[in-house]
Amino acid sequence: MSKQQLINKIFFSVKNNVETPLKITGQQLLTYSLKDNICVKAEDDKTTCNSSMLWEYKSPFNSTIYDILSKESNLKFIGKTRLDEFAMGSMGINGPNFNPKDVLNPLFPDRVPGGSSSGSAASVSGGLVDFSLGTDTGGSVRLPASWCGTMGFKPSYGKISRYGVVDMAQSLDTVGVISNDIDKIYHVFKLLDQYDPKDTTSLPEELRFRPPQQDLKSEWKIGIPREICIDLCDPIIWNKFEETLHKLLSVPGVTLHPVSIPSLKLSLPIYYTLCPSEVASNLARYDGVRYGSREKNEFEDQDNDTDITLFASTRSKHFGKEVKRRIMLGNHTLSSGSYQNNYLKAQRLRMRLIDEFNSIFQVRNVLMGKTEIKTNSDEGIDFMLVPTSLTPPPKMDDVVKSQTNKQQEENPVTNYMNDFFTVPMSLAGLPTISIPMSLKSNLGVQIVGQYGDDYKVLNFAKNVM
Ligand code: GLN
Repeated sequence: MSKQQLINKIFFSVKNNVETPLKITGQQLLTYSLKDNICVKAEDDKTTCNSSMLWEYKSPFNSTIYDILSKESNLKFIGKTRLDEFAMGSMGINGPNFNPKDVLNPLFPDRVPGGSSSGSAASVSGGLVDFSLGTDTGGSVRLPASWCGTMGFKPSYGKISRYGVVDMAQSLDTVGVISNDIDKIYHVFKLLDQYDPKDTTSLPEELRFRPPQQDLKSEWKIGIPREICIDLCDPIIWNKFEETLHKLLSVPGVTLHPVSIPSLKLSLPIYYTLCPSEVASNLARYDGVRYGSREKNEFEDQDNDTDITLFASTRSKHFGKEVKRRIMLGNHTLSSGSYQNNYLKAQRLRMRLIDEFNSIFQVRNVLMGKTEIKTNSDEGIDFMLVPTSLTPPPKMDDVVKSQTNKQQEENPVTNYMNDFFTVPMSLAGLPTISIPMSLKSNLGVQIVGQYGDDYKVLNFAKNVM
């Protein structure tokens, strides 16, 4: 495939040539792409979120992350990449007029790239850019990174500014970095790891500091949750995961320990209760008046309230299937009859999951206050390890067939299953990196750290894995 064909399948818009000199004034020049839900102010550049709703949307301002990167003289922005519509999905196939020929996994061309940051991962694994920024609400940086055979890092919630990043579910949304090179991930994360007064969920400066000696240890306790077992995932994943653990055991200083997170198995229902609720509330703004493409009011002649019917025409026409499904589900969950039983229950279970995570790590969670300092630091683990996905990337042909299968369409749960291993860390806001389990493999393993231990996770991935 020619470079131009590769670019057409991966990018929505291209600002600069991908062929760039490798060095400027002695510094290495790095190129990058951005997922097309990250705002870049430009006369002719759009931020579409791969939705017909925002097809013509031009942001009047830059995201903070773009502002930070564009100040660096050795970084060059190449363009905006494909995604699942409004970042909802795991395959990279949700969006208007989907055509499988438009979507590519460069290293494994018969397979889906994963989503929702499909183009971000593909632009890195196809060798078009050095790194890419995507968003990860429930796994959308880690899953496509793994299925495209590269690395994806989701930092602790609140570390990287979300100002100018289109909301999906803001209690879960994070910006993550994808690259083939751990040093580049480290470098880019370090640049972006700063407090932003424009983002109300940005982590305050005083909570960002971690004692550096924590990061430079030479003994590592790795926890493996008892709740994950062979019946849960595809045997290919399980065998590779066991192989990875055996390899790790031969590294001096590494010990493996069973840990228990009983709520791990509840994470998927918790996520798919809370995420659509936030989606329903966030996407209410796309009504064709304040934001979004405006549709002709098809109910105009009827004796109806014209504002409401204008909204209905606009939203029916311009949102895709998965987006509508989540809006309906979220509004149902938030309705008075269901709020107590579903929404509040899911919130309580989320807190329980966070407590369970806090109980397994050696260091305290910086968000829990000083009283939570652990007295006996011999107890607890440094990291948890779990696979990234339940299965290898599915074949594009099979996915296309299943999308046209009525039964499958009515039961989207199978499409949600591959988020099983990624959503627990999103619910708890934990820093997690997915790295390939072997060279050029599309099977990933996640290294999960305590909240705030982002550099420790990156150092471990660089020096030990
Ligand atoms: N696959 C998950 C979902 O569809 C994750 C999405 C994301 O992280 N943006 O909700």
